[in-house]
Amino acid sequence: QAALRERKQAEAALRESEERYRLLAENMSDLVCIHNPEGQYLYISPSCQFLLGYDHKELIGENPYTFFHPEDCDRILQTSHLAALSGQPIPMTYRMRKKSGDYIWLETLTTPILDDTGQVIRLQTTSRDVTDRVRVAQQLRYDALHDSLTGLPNRHLLIGRIELALERLKRYQDFRFAILFLDLDRFKVINDSLGHLAGDQLLITVANLLQKLIRSVDIVARFGGDEFVILLEEIDNINEAVHVAKRIINELQSSLILNQQEVFVTPSIGIVYGSDGYSEAIDLLRDADAAMYRAKAKGGERYEIFDPSMYLQALKRLNLENDLRQALEREDFVLYYQPIISVETGKITGMEALIRWQHPQNGLIPPSDFIPVAEETGLIVPMGMWVLKTACSQIKTWYQHFPNTQNLKISVNLSARQLREPTLVEQINQVLTEIDFPAHCLTLELTESMLLDDIENIITLLSSIRSHSIQLSIDDFGTGYSSLSYLQRLPLNTLKIDQSFVNCIGEQGENSEIIDIIMTLATKLKLEVIAEGIETRTQFEYLKNIGCPFAQGYLIARPLTVDALTTLFQENWQYQ
Ligand code: C2E
Ligand code: MG
Ligand code: MG
Repeated sequence: QAALRERKQAEAALRESEERYRLLAENMSDLVCIHNPEGQYLYISPSCQFLLGYDHKELIGENPYTFFHPEDCDRILQTSHLAALSGQPIPMTYRMRKKSGDYIWLETLTTPILDDTGQVIRLQTTSRDVTDRVRVAQQLRYDALHDSLTGLPNRHLLIGRIELALERLKRYQDFRFAILFLDLDRFKVINDSLGHLAGDQLLITVANLLQKLIRSVDIVARFGGDEFVILLEEIDNINEAVHVAKRIINELQSSLILNQQEVFVTPSIGIVYGSDGYSEAIDLLRDADAAMYRAKAKGGERYEIFDPSMYLQALKRLNLENDLRQALEREDFVLYYQPIISVETGKITGMEALIRWQHPQNGLIPPSDFIPVAEETGLIVPMGMWVLKTACSQIKTWYQHFPNTQNLKISVNLSARQLREPTLVEQINQVLTEIDFPAHCLTLELTESMLLDDIENIITLLSSIRSHSIQLSIDDFGTGYSSLSYLQRLPLNTLKIDQSFVNCIGEQGENSEIIDIIMTLATKLKLEVIAEGIETRTQFEYLKNIGCPFAQGYLIARPLTVDALTTLFQENWQYQ
């Protein structure tokens, strides 16, 4: 009797609570359901139609597990057990299949409904559509681990994967992997001369190509700039990595079309074999990078396998930077001056200032060994000003001692980094004023690749330099990707034909077509021409015949010390 009454009371309470839920549920966008202890739907709120596409009556009696995403079922089951054990509702986020077959993300909270004895008689769930939130989170996670330009994994994801590979290396005797560190040769030139959009396009093209060349177990990541890293897993020996490197070099060989221009890119690749010696991802990357550097130093378009001596090289590079800073403070640099002559008369008309580093231990170091580091570190800016000041004062001294040196021109090389100095023009003017140096006798040498980035600003800057009577010259002309229409718009005075074109003039004057064209171009644009790097008499004669007005090269004179050049001035030397 009493038991019956109790049951009746419990049932009434249940009905009441169900009724309450129902009322709430009918008016909510959330999905509210009541299940029997086995999980089957006993009640589903009408929002079911909107959320899942089912009429709420369709689902009565169904088991929710048939609608869960297969990958989520285990997790849901585990969480449910855990919640039941702890007696605490635990929210869970999972995918549920709609009538259309698509999935939505739901966040669900399950509350048990107990009878007086503590038995679970119903489960009540409230679910909310969190698809947007999950997508945003997934996107954020994806973005945090991928490069936005190429869509490739980024360095964070890569390092994570390398760490996993190192873990496996410890656990499995036979497991081996390799890392390929790839950097595009001369990417900066392409980027500067064809523009950043074309540069981006090139990176995307390379990224796609790399992805095509690897197996699905491997990963290719964009490490930064024009650097890519490939992780090859489960390889048997280093030859497999070499094979991949060779294929990449081969595939890249076919030219790419960017901005309707044919572009050739070649990679430098460093390879490192993942073996017992390593415990940190960062060490592997450092060594792969060092090997890549070696490949680059050997001229690029090749691969190198890491060996420990390369590590020492990398250390050296670091020392170089520190040494360079000190050298700048102590002014451990010296300028050599290479005469430039009139082809017609053989007389010196000017000279180019070329910097050398007088290293206390290592002797005289050529600019190619330290200018790149000076550019990377920004040290080139103070260094460049030192060159300008020293060169102008030296010429001024010569003017004062030798009447025959009056009006000789001095050429000073500028680096791209200096052009980006906002106060460059003021700084130059200040030096000229201090020394009281005639501005029209100073020529600044720029390279083509420096001129095409942000052309409008460059034109403004160069015009401002020219307005102070300083002359401008394009160095190494013909080696960049300059567009001829730009050339017309730049306020230039002189083209210096790059030595590679002069060098290939043969004994019979063959291979000189490019020089002929540059001469014609210069005449049309009313520019002076200096031929650089003349080493043979044949080359000199050829240039004389086609009317090239100025010449510079070992044949005429090497870059000389102040003393050596002073002697030439004393002797009133001229090239015969
Ligand atoms: P550059 O401005 O094109 O200078 C010409 C280079 O060619 C010099 O090399 C010169 O010694 C070399 N050269 C001259 N005649 C011949 C020849 O007949 N045959 C051959 N094979 N080479 C010849 P150097 O002095 O080693 O300078 C290399 C580069 O370093 C320069 O190329 C320039 O780009 C840069 N550089 C030198 N001094 C400075 C500087 O003060 N500032 C900046 N920013 N760059 C500098
Ligand atoms: Mg030069
Ligand atoms: Mg040059």
